[in-house]
Amino acid sequence: AVFDRIDAVELKVKAYLCLLREEARAQARAVDDRIAAGEEVPPLAGIPVAVKDNICMLGVETTCASKILKGFVPPYDATVIERLKKEGVLFTGKTNMDEFAMGSSTENSGFFPTANPWDLERVPGGSSGGSAAAVAAGEAVMALGSDTGGSIRQPAAFCGVVGLKPTYGLVSRYGLVAFASSLDQIGPITRDVRDCALLLNAIAGHDPRDSTSVPYAVPDYTGFLVPDIKGWRIGIPREYVGEGIAPEVRAVLDRTVDLLAGLGATVGEISLPHTKYALPTYYLIAPAEASSNLARYDGVRYGLRVPAEDVISMYKKTRSAGFGAEVKRRIMLGTYALSAGYYDAYYLKALKVRTLIRRDFDAAFEKFDLLLSPTSPTPAFKMGEKIADPLAMYLSDICTLAVNLAGLPAISVPAGFAGNLPVGVQFIAPPFAEGRLLQAAYALE
Ligand code: GLN
Repeated sequence: AVFDRIDAVELKVKAYLCLLREEARAQARAVDDRIAAGEEVPPLAGIPVAVKDNICMLGVETTCASKILKGFVPPYDATVIERLKKEGVLFTGKTNMDEFAMGSSTENSGFFPTANPWDLERVPGGSSGGSAAAVAAGEAVMALGSDTGGSIRQPAAFCGVVGLKPTYGLVSRYGLVAFASSLDQIGPITRDVRDCALLLNAIAGHDPRDSTSVPYAVPDYTGFLVPDIKGWRIGIPREYVGEGIAPEVRAVLDRTVDLLAGLGATVGEISLPHTKYALPTYYLIAPAEASSNLARYDGVRYGLRVPAEDVISMYKKTRSAGFGAEVKRRIMLGTYALSAGYYDAYYLKALKVRTLIRRDFDAAFEKFDLLLSPTSPTPAFKMGEKIADPLAMYLSDICTLAVNLAGLPAISVPAGFAGNLPVGVQFIAPPFAEGRLLQAAYALE
């Protein structure tokens, strides 16, 4: 049924970079055989899942939507893929994204943009836009995305689906192509909160192959699917609802506050005073790490190579042809911030401010169980609207970036509409309180 749906709508939505039709059929037959043999199969057995194209899958081309990785076929599975294979999941294909996950609209894909299924002239958000659009359009039942500064939550909000960014260290990054290693996390994009809990159950947990993976005893997240948040204290950070938030987004947030109060929660205001530094801090740390991580694309080890007379010209020609404009911009910003003479003023300063941002959250969670905000300041914008203005594009993640800097978990849930466009709200929790996020989201659903 999912592949029929893909046949019907994919030409318009363009969520996928590649489809795994035959492989999925074989995986489906294998699950059928297990059931026929009387085996009790895991909850996700036979469920069609789409995978963002920065997650390595054995034998399947993985490009991060970059021309520089064209032709790269990983010789191994990411840990999340290995775990989902054990569950008996069917993989539908690899989804489109902003090149190397740098962007908020999927327009930075090195191949083609993806459309928002709710309005084909608008963006699905990004960078996990292909995954969110696939789930929203019924071209997959669930999907994996990755979130460095909002790339699961913002596209989930734009496409009217659920997206969860786990606590840093909960889900293994082994096999996730690195963008900014201290911020990246893989997480679920699903149609509802129950699916989100099920997919998180399958991917969370310690992995010795990722040195930042935390040895944490993962609970069964479906145990949190009880619609009861009576007495919970929910804080709205003042800085997240000020200037720049569209009135129709504000209206959805206000309605959500009423619903939460109706469910017996108390909602109050809180200040996170360092919020104004989140965007500049992120755009020093993320490009700094990216400039180091992307140094491996040299035309020798992976994907594209443009031949030239000597090795230095080969590097230059390969990188000039292989990287898109936004990726080049980030590499230059990051290299500058890390260079001798500027390191202390920019990168080191950003690390210090990152600590202050985390402390704001620590203080807030002494008073509140959860924080609530818009996921993004606006609903899905028109294709082409922000592509020529990087700063306008960066502002699309103003409500999500600080969460990654602080390593916290957060979820975006559909909470209403602006005209025919879905609007999401974001809950933020203390480290490893994913259960609390799911419980609040489930109560709202
Ligand atoms: N839009 C932000 C960026 O371009 C966040 C991307 C992400 O979370 N991968 O860096």
